[in-house]
Amino acid sequence: MDMKVSKKKLGLKEKYQHMTRGLGWETSYQQMDDVFPYAKYEGIKIHDWDKWEDPFRLTMDAYWKYQAEKERKLYAIIDAYAQNNGHLSVTDARYINAIKLFLNGISPLEYMAHRGFAHVGRQFPGVGPRVACLMQSLDEIRHAQTQIHALSNYNKYYNGFHEFRHMIERVWYLSVPRSFFDDAVTAGPFEFMVAIGFSFEYVLTNLLFVPFVSGAAYNGDMGTMTFGFSAQSDEARHMTLGLEVIKFILEQDPDNLPIVQRWIDKWTWRGYRVLTLVGMMMDYMLPKRIMSWKEAWEVYFEENGGALFKDLARYGIRPPKWLDQIAFDKDHLSHQAWATFYQYGAVCNFHTWMPTDDEMDWLSKKYPNSFDKYYRPRLEFWRDEAAKGNRFYNKTLPMLCQTCQIPMIFTEPGDPTQICYREVDYKDTKYHFCSDGCKEIFEHEPEKYIQAWLPAQQIYQGHCFNEGVDPTAEGFDPLGAVLDYYHMAAGRDNFDFDGSEDQKNFEAWRGLATKNA
Ligand code: FE
Ligand code: ZN
Repeated sequence: MDMKVSKKKLGLKEKYQHMTRGLGWETSYQQMDDVFPYAKYEGIKIHDWDKWEDPFRLTMDAYWKYQAEKERKLYAIIDAYAQNNGHLSVTDARYINAIKLFLNGISPLEYMAHRGFAHVGRQFPGVGPRVACLMQSLDEIRHAQTQIHALSNYNKYYNGFHEFRHMIERVWYLSVPRSFFDDAVTAGPFEFMVAIGFSFEYVLTNLLFVPFVSGAAYNGDMGTMTFGFSAQSDEARHMTLGLEVIKFILEQDPDNLPIVQRWIDKWTWRGYRVLTLVGMMMDYMLPKRIMSWKEAWEVYFEENGGALFKDLARYGIRPPKWLDQIAFDKDHLSHQAWATFYQYGAVCNFHTWMPTDDEMDWLSKKYPNSFDKYYRPRLEFWRDEAAKGNRFYNKTLPMLCQTCQIPMIFTEPGDPTQICYREVDYKDTKYHFCSDGCKEIFEHEPEKYIQAWLPAQQIYQGHCFNEGVDPTAEGFDPLGAVLDYYHMAAGRDNFDFDGSEDQKNFEAWRGLATKNA
């Protein structure tokens, strides 16, 4: 590139600005509004794109060099782990169900993040954010790829990893993370940036990655730990972008404040709802626990997030709505979630189980206000029933929240014995919600959320059977037909961990590795 070098030596920031700002121009034979059709309809006013502070200041060649180096290290470790049968060194095979949850529920979101950032990178009239979004888009496809590669090793030996791509679009519990991202990528470019760049990457990402990565480290899973660290090393950049976006928008025009505040409220709530899966993973699925969900929420949200929102107060931003409810729910969330998966273990592509006595004691200690009183008796009852041959499987489908798509399992703020239930009548139809948060999000954009593809409703409407299946045929088995549609193998991918192929194989293989046959 032909660049005039001035006498004065430029700092990195100025050098980078020269590079990025020079890439854009005012179009002449097309209207700028036609070239950037999504830039204005959300109501965000931007007066000067040049005020954008580039958060990365990385040139493309430096970017490739850094990332290539990371990839070399990552794949060396993944290969060594695979060649040494590293999967046999995890604490116990129940752990592997936590990474099934990750591959099926999280990795597809990395790919959607890639697409989302590529899309908004095209839509911003300013060059600085376009370049930043391009780089994050590349990071995100790397995350999707490295996660799939690392976890493909487990797919050789264990069930439930085989069709994450197919399942994300169909399986009931996966519609929760999927709808979260679908909502974000179908929003305008500014909302996407506040949703994913700020609320998710900046405010909530530690609650997702730290538990999985530390969980992997604590449970002997080097492969997952390594891709986790590799992805986390990009995270610093993503967080800087998320923060810059918020500050830039707020500094551009005072009219932007209420719009941004509403997005922060909405996306913190939606992100928190998705994190239900992580909370359950931390408290119930890791054989060796790192910390409880409640502790993680206190450290990563209440302390760190608290400081952040204090900082943003000078822009007029207040902390997200519904934090009172979240603070109350932190004693209950993971227990309510695991109880749900236990009941619906027949339609899961991972295994469920009852906590051992030791594990129940750990839960009592971590949740002194709730576990013994509300949740232990139910678990013990189910355990006794299972021992008598009455393993409880719930055979009716639950009502789903129209916004977050989670079954209506959450309880009233302040009363953990009452299911929280809200409803709205809209155009002659009744819609149902798990919370005030989800209800208010719906009421602001009903036309968006009435289009939601809700798995339970879709099953009842007969849309979740393979082509050619006749539900009126004699002896028709609806559960079997839904599992076929999901590509889940009954008796292999689902049901209890105890007695599963995974459990038996792991035991036999570990025996071969550690004992004389
Ligand atoms: Fe990522
Ligand atoms: Zn909801």
